[in-house]
Amino acid sequence: MKVWDTSHLHDNVPSQRQDTAGQVYDSADTQANLQQIRLHFKQLQTRLILGLVLGFLLPNALLSAYFHFQFTHTLKESAKLNLAAVAESQKNTIDLYLQERVVNLYNLFQSKEFSLNPTQEQMENLLARLKRFNDGFVDIGLFDDKGVQFAYAGPFSSLLGMDYHKEPWYHDLLTEDKNYFISDVYRGFRNIPHFTIAIKQVFDNRTYVMRAALDPDKFYIFLRSISQGKEEDSTLINRQGMYQVIDPAGRNQLPGITDHIPPSVPLSGVEELELGEQKMLMAYTWLKEHHWALLAMQPVSVAQGAMIKARVVLTASLIIISLLISTVIYFTIKKLVGRARHMAEKGQMLQEMLAHASKLAAIGELAAGVAHEINNPLAIIMATSGVIRDMLNPEFELDHSPEAIDKELSVIDAAADRAKGITRKLQDMGKSRVPSVVECDVNALLDEVVGRLKKVEFKSKQVEVVNNLVLDLPHIFAEPEPLRQVFANILINACDAIADKGTINISTESKEEMIWVTITDTGKGIPPEDLQRIFNPFFTTKGGGRSTGLGLSIAASIVKYLGGTIKVNSILGTGSSFTVLLPINEQAQKTLKQHDK
Ligand code: ADP
Repeated sequence: MKVWDTSHLHDNVPSQRQDTAGQVYDSADTQANLQQIRLHFKQLQTRLILGLVLGFLLPNALLSAYFHFQFTHTLKESAKLNLAAVAESQKNTIDLYLQERVVNLYNLFQSKEFSLNPTQEQMENLLARLKRFNDGFVDIGLFDDKGVQFAYAGPFSSLLGMDYHKEPWYHDLLTEDKNYFISDVYRGFRNIPHFTIAIKQVFDNRTYVMRAALDPDKFYIFLRSISQGKEEDSTLINRQGMYQVIDPAGRNQLPGITDHIPPSVPLSGVEELELGEQKMLMAYTWLKEHHWALLAMQPVSVAQGAMIKARVVLTASLIIISLLISTVIYFTIKKLVGRARHMAEKGQMLQEMLAHASKLAAIGELAAGVAHEINNPLAIIMATSGVIRDMLNPEFELDHSPEAIDKELSVIDAAADRAKGITRKLQDMGKSRVPSVVECDVNALLDEVVGRLKKVEFKSKQVEVVNNLVLDLPHIFAEPEPLRQVFANILINACDAIADKGTINISTESKEEMIWVTITDTGKGIPPEDLQRIFNPFFTTKGGGRSTGLGLSIAASIVKYLGGTIKVNSILGTGSSFTVLLPINEQAQKTLKQHDK
């Protein structure tokens, strides 16, 4: 079964220009179609680029942001851990330093040179020994069980004989379980900042104390020497926050007090501080040997410097790579879409050229058909007028009675009528009429047409007409006469296709905003090769003078004018089915009703 659709037929010939190579260009339709293609590809490109952004850049950016934050967090943590490790190592070194100093003093107690009644020389020797252990030792003194310094070597000889039993360090040493005591930095009787290490030992049930003072300057230098990190600064503070090391520049000054006293629990930790404009990392750890905390400070920018650099490089690389990939994808999309658009434009142009060529061919066919159809009656008229002239010529002695001449004139009349009929139909096809649109009941129109045909066309054959009309079929707004003509042309063809006996089925229905009128016959059917041509003007397979080959062509024009189409199904030897689709134009209905008011 072949299906043919008339929607492509009888388009108005567009105002195209043709160049010598036969190319079509510059028509309004072509421009509109090309415009549409461009718009479509522009939208496609935008969609693809949006897809690129959503599918590649967005996940990439989210992933980068995630890694960035994760990296920043790790970076901060590792900077803290690093500084905490530095502080821990320094704390261990200082603990060891203090232990060593305590041991140095113990060793003196145990040494052979030690005497409970030492001479000044012996005391000087002990001090010299101490200084060999560590040059931070300033002096040495021995105290009896009353707290009186009975032997002394060092720069402050006025301290000899002084009573220390009220001094806090002396009191703490005697009352504490530990055999040694390390003091905080204080001025004491000498009125110079220093700290002391004292140990006690019992001889003959009497507690003797040996005490050495240490120079905080030297301690400061020692602390500096064990500093490790870049721009890292370490210091020691006591529980009250007082610095326990003295910058040699601030000699004779008791060290100041810090605002940042770390908590005693946990024993170590890292905090971030704002010192003026600068952000600092501060790691603290409490010493084992004494109630001192080691503070290691480092500017955040320095502590995280290397990793910040790495992060910048990583982020920059990510951005550059993303930009590069996006640029490549963008230009590839642009190029591919551009190529596809070019192909589509070319295709459209070709299609239009083809349509134009086929229209030209159709016009040519129409012109040839018109010439042929008009030539035939003209030839008859000319021949018959020649016959009449001969009849009137006495030489030929022909019958020139009025009856004979009238007979010939009837032939001329018939030929002229035929030519007139053709030109009238052509006029009908082409002329622009002022349409007298009214509300039409398609079912009623069909009934009318069938009733009329039954009287004449269907009379000669046994044609049964079966109606399957939907009762509540919506009315449409159209000119009734052309519509009647459409149905009549199709019905006459259906009848012609039936040899002697057959059925014509007429059905109507309303769907998809359209009225569907289907006329099916049980006739001979249409050969597939003719299906494409039956709507062409003057195409006919019917012999005899009464066929013009314009019936379907006119029907298609009318239906097209109404905004509809005709579809054909046909099986050779079984029958054909013509479906007329007419739009139910609600807007037209409304307008008409307004006019009626
Ligand atoms: P005409 O009826 O003057 O031939 P039409 O344009 O009405 O012109 O029809 C063109 C041709 O289409 C017919 O000659 C016929 O070959 C074919 N045709 C149309 N309708 C039918 C049909 N129902 N069954 C078979 N052939 C048909």
